[in-house]
Amino acid sequence: QGVLYVVATPIGNLGDISDRMREILAMVSRVAAEDTRRARQLLSHIGVNKPCFSLHEHNERQKLDYIVQQLSEGESIALISDAGTPLISDPGYPLVTELRAKGLKVVPIPGPCALITALSAAGLPSDRFIFEGFLPAKQGARLTYLKNLLKESGTIIFYESSHRIKASLSDMQQVFGSDRHVVIARELTKTFETFLDGELSEVSQILDDDPNQCRGEFVVMLRGAAKANEALSVESQELATKLIEYLP
Ligand code: SAM
Repeated sequence: QGVLYVVATPIGNLGDISDRMREILAMVSRVAAEDTRRARQLLSHIGVNKPCFSLHEHNERQKLDYIVQQLSEGESIALISDAGTPLISDPGYPLVTELRAKGLKVVPIPGPCALITALSAAGLPSDRFIFEGFLPAKQGARLTYLKNLLKESGTIIFYESSHRIKASLSDMQQVFGSDRHVVIARELTKTFETFLDGELSEVSQILDDDPNQCRGEFVVMLRGAAKANEALSVESQELATKLIEYLP
């Protein structure tokens, strides 16, 4: 029987390609990729020529039978996404669940992942953290989502795009207070890699003052709620959030 290899790829810096990743991509029969054009660029960079087929959130379920058949015929497949680790805010979850349920072999080939890369250098508590992926696009839903995190005491990690980074930070200020400690990691492993560290109001101000700081890809990491007086501080934050609605 074949194996599905879940292969992490670089999040910007091609120097992060590992020997094992090369080996696996050179060995499999096919590559299932979120975007086949990007996959071919990566494969050509490592001198590998392999048939690629697309696997993204809209066709993942349809491709399942094909992949099961390939694996049953003894062909191995590598799953890659546009960047980083598949399944982490990327396609692959229904596929891996289904293959495991069918008793087929799934093997991870570890490598870059933006949230872990960001957390490893942020200086925020890393013993307990919660990954929330992308926040809702609409402000109402985003505020509701954030309010549900008020009691969270572990570091809270989000992915964010350049289009919404300012709006999300502004909503975080409204919900968690302007003095909550935040670290944002931008363009990790790339030329303009930047960590901004400070209170929510300070980091938002930096983005307001310098449009270049709003470009690229972001990981936003919020310090969790303080444990001492946690109940009181959560209650007062909730009260403050309610009062803000009545301000002119
Ligand atoms: N699977 C990927 C991983 O393992 O990190 C994440 C894919 S998700 C669709 C893309 C988001 O990840 C971006 O919007 C950004 O929030 C984050 N991201 C990816 N690469 C990044 C980088 N080089 N620097 C900062 N954030 C990055």
